[in-house]
Amino acid sequence: MCGFLVGMGARSSKRLRRRHEIVIVGANFAGLSAALDLPSDCDVAVIDPEPWFEWLPNIHELVSGVKKPSDLRLPRREILASAGHRFVQGRFVGIDSKRKALRLDDGTTIQYEHCVLALGGVGNDFGVPGAARFGMHFNNVAECDAIGKRLKRLAARKGPLSVIVVGGGFEGIEALGEVLRRYRGRDGLQIHLVEVGGRLMPEGPPAVDEMIRRRLIGMPVRLHCGKRVIRVTATGVTLDDGERISGDITIWTGGAKAPDVVADAGFDASRAGWIQVRKDLSCRGFPGVFAAGDVADVPRPIAKQAYHAIDMGRHAARNILRRRAGRKTLPFSPAPKPMLVAFGDLDTFLMTESKVVAGPGLAAAKEAVFQATIAGFDRLASVGGLQRAKERGVRAISELVFPKLRSWEETVRLLSVNVEDV
Ligand SMILES: Cc1cc2nc3c(=O)[nH]c(=O)nc-3n(C[C@H](O)[C@H](O)[C@H](O)COP(=O)(O)OP(=O)(O)OC[C@H]3O[C@@H](n4cnc5c(N)ncnc54)[C@H](O)[C@@H]3O)c2cc1C
Repeated sequence: MCGFLVGMGARSSKRLRRRHEIVIVGANFAGLSAALDLPSDCDVAVIDPEPWFEWLPNIHELVSGVKKPSDLRLPRREILASAGHRFVQGRFVGIDSKRKALRLDDGTTIQYEHCVLALGGVGNDFGVPGAARFGMHFNNVAECDAIGKRLKRLAARKGPLSVIVVGGGFEGIEALGEVLRRYRGRDGLQIHLVEVGGRLMPEGPPAVDEMIRRRLIGMPVRLHCGKRVIRVTATGVTLDDGERISGDITIWTGGAKAPDVVADAGFDASRAGWIQVRKDLSCRGFPGVFAAGDVADVPRPIAKQAYHAIDMGRHAARNILRRRAGRKTLPFSPAPKPMLVAFGDLDTFLMTESKVVAGPGLAAAKEAVFQATIAGFDRLASVGGLQRAKERGVRAISELVFPKLRSWEETVRLLSVNVEDV
């Protein structure tokens, strides 16, 4: 037994003092992966303010309704309990590196021997006036579900419907694809997509920009590339060239930034606010603390993607176990993995370092990654996990597979692929 827990139940007030051998802060891709890789005889506590693990790479599908919130959420307490670990619902607000103690927003103090910070990022509105208040943000299940519901209400009205998507990165393209999937046949629909860079999907190769533009021919979409939104109001946005675009809904996909608590807690956040870590993911000046996932800025920067977050979480757990065993920690080296970006039912792009492969049938690959990986997190041994896997599978077949097999033309289009060198 390696676990130890002191003071639990000693005081019933909120200022409860606790000690756990390993404390993980943030229980999504990086944090949950770290926890599930630690043996059940370790004393592990995992902290997150929200009770649900959320599968973020498919939240765009809430916009069209092909996924429901329950498809993308898993109960953290149940999953962690099945691994023999404790879930603490709370928000980390500070750290005392000398006492090796974390502070939560309810006043609780939790001491640790080792800690993994896996806080992810928060939506970035770049301080644009009105963006926080009037933009509908695109960062989690609740926000994307709210966008889907609002669009459904707006589309049910008669007359013109103007949708503004701010951001032409992968989130903006996925949002645009889902609006087109559900509403492209609606009379009076006009979509505006504003991207500050000169091309769509700036995180991908230029070939993707051309492929998306080809797909948009004949669609009710106007692109505003190389333009910046400088104001958002309840009735639309203003661009930096003075143009005013009227919109019934503004979907804001500005990317992510580091949470304020990183700088407030005194971490080395000199590069764009993320926690700068050593090669083994440990944090300078904070003995016993590692950072993993989007919040960690590794010496050779990598894309902020769920697959890297999973690998980093698992690596941090492995290094903690090595330290406990008196062994040297190992450097993290990211595995090269292709990026899969969905463009509704129009196309899916698979991007490697040398090629872009596009084809609507690749959506099946994205769905397979989702089904397989979320089932892995869901601990299929449990009755609840099996039931949830069945519901996700049934929805995938009824919402994604059947609608595609309506005609031979659709089926042939589904099987077509387009390969471009980068
Ligand atoms: C719209 C969208 C589409 C995406 N598509 C893809 C894709 O197709 N493929 C891909 O690989 N990646 C994709 N990503 C990126 C991917 O979701 C992230 O890289 C991944 O979620 C990072 O995992 P993480 O565990 O580091 O952080 P997160 O998943 O952001 O989790 C951070 C956790 O920390 C918790 N937390 C935050 N602050 C505190 C605090 N103070 N105290 C305690 N807990 C806290 C949060 O509640 C959250 O549960 C997408 C992201 C978005 C938003």
